[in-house]
Amino acid sequence: MSRREDLRAALARTRERVAAAERAAGRAPGSTTLVVVTKFFPASDVRELAAAGVRDVGENRDQEARAKAADLADLADPAGGDGLRWHFIGQLQTNKARSVAGYADAVHSVDRTRLAHALAEAAERAERHLGVFVQVDLAAALGLEADAGRGGAAGEDVLRVADAVAGAGHLRLRGLMAVAPLGVEPERAFAELARTAERVRRDHPGAAELSAGMSGDLEAAVAVGATHLRVGSAILGTRPPAR
Ligand SMILES: *Cc1c(COP(=O)(O)O)cnc(C)c1O
Repeated sequence: MSRREDLRAALARTRERVAAAERAAGRAPGSTTLVVVTKFFPASDVRELAAAGVRDVGENRDQEARAKAADLADLADPAGGDGLRWHFIGQLQTNKARSVAGYADAVHSVDRTRLAHALAEAAERAERHLGVFVQVDLAAALGLEADAGRGGAAGEDVLRVADAVAGAGHLRLRGLMAVAPLGVEPERAFAELARTAERVRRDHPGAAELSAGMSGDLEAAVAVGATHLRVGSAILGTRPPAR
């Protein structure tokens, strides 16, 4: 099969999985947004996916994301309509905020107030608006050893970061994001995320979205109410080994 056929078949299989998970959870069809994580794969793959109807793509490194967004600028819709939306999902250094604010529609990995402030300033400068998910460190929340390099805010810091985002111009607090830690049942991890989200919504009722679930655990995420699934390898195939 050609790459085009491979991608289309894998996308269709993933959409089936999502639809089945929505049914199993008693949720409305289409109540989750599939963010296709294209990190490590070329812009040509993103173009194929866009042609197959994908509108939301996720990237975790600024340099790579910025280059792809520039390559695919013809697929963007500056009016915010039906164009390709870039979701930044990786660890983000404050000094990259300005770059990310130039192309991202949403940042899922905001885990400190300093980063929130940097993104707000960068978005204002770029005359753009960014959706923000506050990333939660579920390993810490579950009392496990920290997942090195995963990032995420823990405890009261989640609320502090949410307050900072909600209070900043040019940012919109959309909700929370997390990655299920290794070695824990995703159901248990995502239940903890849902509890944290409830707590945040007491102060920020509009922060109703939840970014959770990847190739291996999307069903568990849909079951707890995830609105955004970040799926990479199930659609694009196995990534090259970590750098
Ligand atoms: C890479 C990545 C994903 C996608 O993971 P898959 O297992 O390939 O679906 C989702 N979320 C984050 C934060 C990632 O870095």
